[in-house]
Amino acid sequence: MTKKWTNWARNQSSNPHNIFEPKTEAEISDIVCLGVARRLKIRPIGSGHSFSSIGLTEGFLVSMESMNRIISIDRDRLRVTVGAGITISDLNIELHKIGFALPNLGDIDTQSLAGAIATGTHGTGIKYNSISSAIVGIRIVTGDGSVMDISESKNSDLLGPAKVSLGALGIITSVTLQCVPAFNLKILEFTAKLPEIISRFKFEELSADFVEFFWFPHTELAEIKICNKTASTNTRTRKFSSFVTNEVTRNFGFSLLNQFWLQFPNSVDPMVNSVIKENVRPERIDASHNIFCSKRRVKFLEMEYSVPRECLFEAFEAVQRVIEELSFPVTFPVEVRSLSADDIPLSMASERETGFIAVHLYNRVDPKDFFKRIEHIMDQFNGRPHWGKLHSLESAQLAKLYPRWSEFTEARKALDPDGHFTNSYLERVLGY
Ligand SMILES: Cc1cc2nc3c(=O)[nH]c(=O)nc-3n(C[C@H](O)[C@H](O)[C@H](O)COP(=O)(O)OP(=O)(O)OC[C@H]3O[C@@H](n4cnc5c(N)ncnc54)[C@H](O)[C@@H]3O)c2cc1C
Repeated sequence: MTKKWTNWARNQSSNPHNIFEPKTEAEISDIVCLGVARRLKIRPIGSGHSFSSIGLTEGFLVSMESMNRIISIDRDRLRVTVGAGITISDLNIELHKIGFALPNLGDIDTQSLAGAIATGTHGTGIKYNSISSAIVGIRIVTGDGSVMDISESKNSDLLGPAKVSLGALGIITSVTLQCVPAFNLKILEFTAKLPEIISRFKFEELSADFVEFFWFPHTELAEIKICNKTASTNTRTRKFSSFVTNEVTRNFGFSLLNQFWLQFPNSVDPMVNSVIKENVRPERIDASHNIFCSKRRVKFLEMEYSVPRECLFEAFEAVQRVIEELSFPVTFPVEVRSLSADDIPLSMASERETGFIAVHLYNRVDPKDFFKRIEHIMDQFNGRPHWGKLHSLESAQLAKLYPRWSEFTEARKALDPDGHFTNSYLERVLGY
């Protein structure tokens, strides 16, 4: 009997022929061989936190949840090898125990490691890169069921493509990560007028370690988060106020507001303007992963594009104009981040210093019209969409946006020439 699979945001679902939850690499090889023999497509899946249809299949869905162990630790070189299905949150805890950390993280930690790297999940920091950049080795079950080691010393030409693979090269069973010594971050967060926030972002981008901001649509206000590495230790006294802000205001209260706003959209403008005020939150110091990641419980839909860093604010202003012209309110903030360039073929920051703009809508609002207009803007700036977020681009358009595109297509020809791991999303974005 088929079982329905649904993603986190509840905007994507499918009825896979089978859902497997293998515990060993050998089982994964057997599943791939069985899928190939039965002419069913095979799709690995992580925590289902992608908004796009990237994880859907009517064939074999392979959940990586049980492949979640620490396999080995190299203390001299600060490297760990882990089961690909480990969640980022479990990974952070395990790394912290041994005095390691990942150099940079995204906003949340509930994704699986393999899912996060497959879509190029990133945080912010113009001197830093995405999670995938920390990869130094991968083991993968390819389209013929065999296992391949990919690292700096083995099959090294495939390492770049395998770092952001969209799940198109095979099923990654384990990942070796280059970590850094565990570090603490001090976070300063404040809400102020947008022009002040933008000039602070531009300044801090070059001087702070990690900086991002959120503009609240229909207001003149934005919130900035500035994080710096520090040798100081945790501020313990702020736990309660942090709980109130994160759980009560940003999750529970925000969820109620969005349900109310669905019924009374005209109330958004006056309400947000009376609720969101200029303020400075108490500074916090904590282990890096506790500062990078927060809880997001309100379900939303997201589109995120990367643009060349020098175009970031021109693109942002165009997004602002679109939002002001919409016939319905946007109740979620617009998020702005930046990242250093990397050399990963399908990374959103491939070969260019990058600015990111992410727009979000409550998941019960139809995003089509808004997101289409955002894509129109991003097209003018050679915008590259996040692979795990909503977008409508096709392979011919995408190939022109990525200078190392052919390295990825060559790798795919080598590892899965017959497209056993494909689905309709990959057919659209990769051509088969
Ligand atoms: C609330 C929320 C906040 C988010 N914040 C950020 C953010 O700050 N920055 C950012 O960049 N993104 C962010 N995202 C997007 C998210 O990080 C990505 O969509 C990520 O891919 C989700 O990981 P997952 O484990 O849920 O993967 P899934 O959505 O389950 O799968 C994604 C892809 O990974 C592939 N995959 C999974 N396991 C394997 C494997 N073992 N081998 C090969 N391929 C595999 C799948 O086939 C699929 O193609 C956010 C998403 C949500 C819902």
